[in-house]
Amino acid sequence: MEYTRGFPGGKEGSMKFLWAPWRMNYILSKKQEGCLFCSKRVEERDRENLILHRGTEGFVMMNRFPYNNGHLMVIPNRHCFYLEELRKNEAKELFHLLNLTTQVVRETLYPHGFNIGINIGKAGGAGEDHLHVHIVPRWTGDTNFMPILGETKVVPQYLDETYQTLYTGFRRLLKKGTRRLGGKRP
Ligand SMILES: [Zn+2]
Repeated sequence: MEYTRGFPGGKEGSMKFLWAPWRMNYILSKKQEGCLFCSKRVEERDRENLILHRGTEGFVMMNRFPYNNGHLMVIPNRHCFYLEELRKNEAKELFHLLNLTTQVVRETLYPHGFNIGINIGKAGGAGEDHLHVHIVPRWTGDTNFMPILGETKVVPQYLDETYQTLYTGFRRLLKKGTRRLGGKRP
C-alpha cells in the first residue's frame, strides 16, 4: 500500500510497518508549490508550523502526518538534496540537532527505541526535495499505536499537545545544557 512506502518501512521482513492511515490525507492532498521546508522556515509562525527548535544551521519540526507519536524531522536551513551538498558546519549541526532531539524525545515521551533515517528523492519515499532526517520514536508493540484514536487522521488537538510537551522538553534541555550525552539506555 502506498502509505507504507518510505520511512520507516523498507522491505517486508524484520521491520514491521507502522499503521498510519491518516497519512492517506497527505498522499492524496494537493502538493503546494515550492519547497515546504524553505517556506515554513522563513515564516514566523513556529507553533502553527510545528517548528520546535531553531539551531544555527538547521531546525526541528514535527511531522503533521506522523508515522508515530513524536515523529520529528531535523532539517538543514539551506535547501540541499544530497548529503554531500552539506557544508561541514551544516553536517555537524545536523548531527547535533539529531542528538538534541532524541534526548528531548526520550525525556518527554519515553520511547523504547527509534527509527532514524533519510529518504532521498521521490523514489526513495521523500515528500520533499529538501534533505531532512526523520526521527520516529518506537515503543514495543506500537504497530497498533494510532488506531486508539479511531480516526483516519491525527486530531490537531493531539498534535498540539505533543507540540507543547516537546517544546517544553527542548527548552528544559537547552537550559540544562546539551553536553550531557549518553545516559541510561532502555
Ligand atoms: Zn527547501
